[in-house]
Amino acid sequence: MDARALENEAQSAIANASTLDELGDARVRYLGRKSELKQALRAVRDRETGMTLNAVREHLEAALATRQAELERAELDRSLSEDVVDVTLPGDAPPRGHLHLITQIRREVEDVFLGLGYRIVDGREVESTHYNFDALNFPHWHPARSRRASLFLNGDTLLRTETSPSQIRVMEEQEPPIYMISLGRVYRRDTPDATHNPIFHQVEGLAIDKGITLADLKGTLLHLMRALFGEERGMRFRTHFFPFTEPSMEPDVSCFLCEGAGCRVCKFSGWIEMGGSGMVDPSLFEFVGYDYEEYSGFAFGLGLERIAQLRHSVPDVRLLWDNDLRFVRQF
Ligand SMILES: [Zn+2]
Repeated sequence: MDARALENEAQSAIANASTLDELGDARVRYLGRKSELKQALRAVRDRETGMTLNAVREHLEAALATRQAELERAELDRSLSEDVVDVTLPGDAPPRGHLHLITQIRREVEDVFLGLGYRIVDGREVESTHYNFDALNFPHWHPARSRRASLFLNGDTLLRTETSPSQIRVMEEQEPPIYMISLGRVYRRDTPDATHNPIFHQVEGLAIDKGITLADLKGTLLHLMRALFGEERGMRFRTHFFPFTEPSMEPDVSCFLCEGAGCRVCKFSGWIEMGGSGMVDPSLFEFVGYDYEEYSGFAFGLGLERIAQLRHSVPDVRLLWDNDLRFVRQF
């Protein structure tokens, strides 16, 4: 074997290796266990040949180490320039939650009434039939008293079917003037579908003072509707019947989708039904011991899910309860 020719060949292979992989191949080929050099070293019989071959091996090992260091530095330079990190860029923000749409609307409504000087009252979700029906003037034959319509816990205890009982409790506790709203979950024995859920949220308002008139009710609701649906909204009342108000009215808000021209949401009437309202029935005043000659008041109730569905075109109320993040994240 020509040691000099072998070294020249190996040196040029090492010098020409352009990647760490290619250098590894050259190492195996010229210094590996089965390489010509290693086999020759194992077969050495005289000292001079041994010294020559060992010198070749040392030269090649040194050349390999040098070339490896060069290639590693080049690799580092490349990754530093290509995978460049701009430390002035904003980092990846960790995912953050936000308030559910119903909670957002709840707070909007609270803000409107806090701005009008109303008090927010927390009611009880478990109520007696006394406060849920009797005190609210529900006649004994009223269908809401049925076990098929309401969720009873026992004979005279049920999950409240509206937030109104908290109004009775406040009236029992204090004298007028009263300006309060109560928001929260109410329960009805409904089969879930696109517009019904056995649990939903209501906001109920009550104002009792000297000289309260229907105009105050209309102005208050219009103020709320404009806060929720835009300043251009109009409102109208349709007469209705509710046990605890007389007269009773259903407020309609002018359709914000078609601006009154008529569309599917407003059933081509230009108006959307929003809930119930009316002047507090004097018999309720008697019930709590107020002088109905001196005081008058109004009450109203609206569904928060309905507000959310209308304002954000949510086609199915169950979406508001499923908590599917793909839906929830949109608001
Ligand atoms: Zn419309």
